[in-house]
Amino acid sequence: MNPLVITADRLWDGTGGSAIRAPKVSVVGDRIERVDSSPTPASHAFAGCTILPGLIDTHVHLVMSAADTNEAIIAQVQGETDEQLLDRALANARAALGAGITTVRDCGGRRNVIQQARDRIRRGEAEGPDVLACGAPITTTRGHCCWLELIADTREEVRNAAHRMLDVGVDFLKVMATGGNMTASSDPMRAQYDADTLMLIADFGRAAGKHAAAHVLSRSALPAVVAANYRTIEHCDWRVEEFRYEFQPELARRMIDQGQFAGLTMSGLARRAFLPEVNKLDIGPVKRLDARFECERRMIEFGVRYTLHSDAGVRMCPIDRFDLGLRAAQVELRLTPSEILRAATATAAEAIGLPERGTLTPGRRADLIVVEGDPLTDLACIGKVRAVMKAGRWYRLPDAAITFPHQDRQRV
Ligand SMILES: [Zn+2]
Repeated sequence: MNPLVITADRLWDGTGGSAIRAPKVSVVGDRIERVDSSPTPASHAFAGCTILPGLIDTHVHLVMSAADTNEAIIAQVQGETDEQLLDRALANARAALGAGITTVRDCGGRRNVIQQARDRIRRGEAEGPDVLACGAPITTTRGHCCWLELIADTREEVRNAAHRMLDVGVDFLKVMATGGNMTASSDPMRAQYDADTLMLIADFGRAAGKHAAAHVLSRSALPAVVAANYRTIEHCDWRVEEFRYEFQPELARRMIDQGQFAGLTMSGLARRAFLPEVNKLDIGPVKRLDARFECERRMIEFGVRYTLHSDAGVRMCPIDRFDLGLRAAQVELRLTPSEILRAATATAAEAIGLPERGTLTPGRRADLIVVEGDPLTDLACIGKVRAVMKAGRWYRLPDAAITFPHQDRQRV
């Protein structure tokens, strides 16, 4: 098989801080064969552009509409049939791929909608990123996202819920360890489960060879989630009172030692720097942003490993604007472009258990994107996607001006 050879002005491979000039990426089948600056003639040349690993969003909700209010989103999910939710999930998936996201981990849908979307994409019947599904998140009666309908209050019910998810072929388990902002009947400041129950879910995942993710919106549940060694701690919020966050070095040390990842949420509300209407919202999650980001900076400086995710589907957070979330991280968390890109590629892949993705190195899966300009000097370039390749195949952007020779249109 002849390799496909791609070139651009520069390439950032997901590992280092700087870019390779005039790179040649050879792709054979679904793998990257070589990355170098050899004089090999290129089959695809992108002048003025940068080649990057495909983006990985570790926390999205494909069934949600990203409407302006929580109430509207909950009404949308409750009002739609599973068929409608599947159509929505597939439309969101297509939009994500067009924005350069080649893998998503869906952190909560309803019944088997996400697994169906995942399988259709996998079979080539629909276009989209690869999807990791948790099915629905395990939560309590009236708890966070109870409207996604996987309710379990007692330990026995939690055991059954985790079993059920594993039986229907999910890729990981997700639990709502605290209440959430979206669900008014839940309390973000309180743990929804005791430490033994949280341990049980993580253990179930480990026994099945899957990782587990815990939603944590206050420090109430953090010690138990760390003790249970959940692979990813979604939001990883250290809040102890309405506006007070309290970072605990001992807890963070244990997260580092165990190889846990904090999933930092750059959702619609966190994008205040680019969405002026957010600042007008007189709600807690916006008023707390300064304190939240300050605590997250501390956690990063301490050395906790992190991914940056969108939580797409929640309010004002459409799935194809991951770029805005990443740019917000530059403003709010004072990270460099390469730190941000690493959190959304190499680190993300590791966090969700896909070590063969996230970097452009030989043997890895050929998931790559081409963006205009140089995102390492101007992160806004991450939103100017010119081409997307998933598993060695070009995805044809709807408005792409470039033509790709030697492509099997049906399969891309
Ligand atoms: Zn979420």
